[in-house]
Amino acid sequence: MAGLLPIDAAIDIVLAATRPLSVETVGLLEALGRTAGEDVVSHAQVPPFDNSAMDGYAVDGAALAVGRTTFRVTVEIPAGRYVGEPVGPGAAAKIMTGAPLPPGVDTVVPVELTRPDGAEVRVLEPVEPGANVRGAGEDVAVGDVVIPRGARLGPAEIGLLASLGVEQVTVARRPRVAVLATGSELVPPGQPVGPGQIRDSNSFTAFGQVREAGGEPVMLGIARDEPEETRRLVAAALEADVVITSGGVSVGEFDFVKQVQEELGVERRFWGVKTKPGKPLAFGARGRTLVFGVPGNPVAAMVSFELYIRPALLALQGRTAIYRPYVVAASAEPVTGTKERTEVRRCRLERGNDGWTFTTTGPQGSGILRSMVLADGLAFVPAGYPGGAAGERFLVQLLDGSRPERPPYP
Ligand code: AMP
Ligand code: MG
Repeated sequence: MAGLLPIDAAIDIVLAATRPLSVETVGLLEALGRTAGEDVVSHAQVPPFDNSAMDGYAVDGAALAVGRTTFRVTVEIPAGRYVGEPVGPGAAAKIMTGAPLPPGVDTVVPVELTRPDGAEVRVLEPVEPGANVRGAGEDVAVGDVVIPRGARLGPAEIGLLASLGVEQVTVARRPRVAVLATGSELVPPGQPVGPGQIRDSNSFTAFGQVREAGGEPVMLGIARDEPEETRRLVAAALEADVVITSGGVSVGEFDFVKQVQEELGVERRFWGVKTKPGKPLAFGARGRTLVFGVPGNPVAAMVSFELYIRPALLALQGRTAIYRPYVVAASAEPVTGTKERTEVRRCRLERGNDGWTFTTTGPQGSGILRSMVLADGLAFVPAGYPGGAAGERFLVQLLDGSRPERPPYP
């Protein structure tokens, strides 16, 4: 495994092999969490008409400007009613928030600044002409690109599309991702674990990671460390857009995965990255299918997914933003040194007075899945780091969007 690649170089190679998938049309609610497959151009304006931003009285701003304070209330307009008759210069419309302004008026005096006086209303404090009115098309004009291609369609996007009357959305197809565990020691759920055997967990972490990245997992089970069976299952996996096999990519006598991939026409792009865990990652492609052979150790498999497969799955969906957010955080504890590989340490972030700090989540062996369970971040300690005191700062990539502590709201 000569010439281990730095993380960046490996990501570059993966992305260079990644071509966006085709698009499909789905109903608006089904589009949630998907990626916009084309620019969405508005055919409507938002708001659709000039309307009141407050409960109050709609008047002619020019009359207010020349000092008029008393207006005859000629009409009352709740939200949802349209009044087409003009309101005269000395008159006012009692109007509710969101109701369309009738012709002849352009300004709303909030109800708190007025006093009713029989059939009239007295303005106690004038407002600027045009105040408290939301103009037609102020938020969205006809022809505006409201959602660019490649954006994630979250709740706000779905709501905006609904406000424009959009019912069908063009989204990227979900990548089909074949998930195959390899290892004669592995036992699926529901079967007893014999001596020397362990349960397959990588299929489950991969399923979750694929789903969360918008992919559709295709679960192929377990291949024993045996060339025939590995070949049969890898061949089936190659029907998908992406293949994730775990295990069998080291230098052991029973590590058949790379050999089998090559026999099946997978073109090797790299094998080996300069990280711990995650070194023996094998990446290749057959046609448009991306083929990842992640190491068998459960943390190594998950970290490899985070670093390379997740960005690739998002890129396949045409997503513009494909990386997790990161912070630069101070270690809350002394930091042990590294050798020739960058170490990816699982950690918990905490918000201190001077910004973010992080603490590693206990033993960091590449098989210790609990270190991932407890983590909300991945701290990157560069290759050749000599070791240092608490307070040294490192790149920490976030794994999760929610926090236990309530922010100090003002
Ligand atoms: P390998 O990369 O095949 O040499 O596997 C490295 C280590 O990860 C070994 O201890 C395997 O038993 C373990 N391992 C491999 N595949 C899995 C899996 N699917 N679930 C849990 N552990 C695994
Ligand atoms: Mg193995």
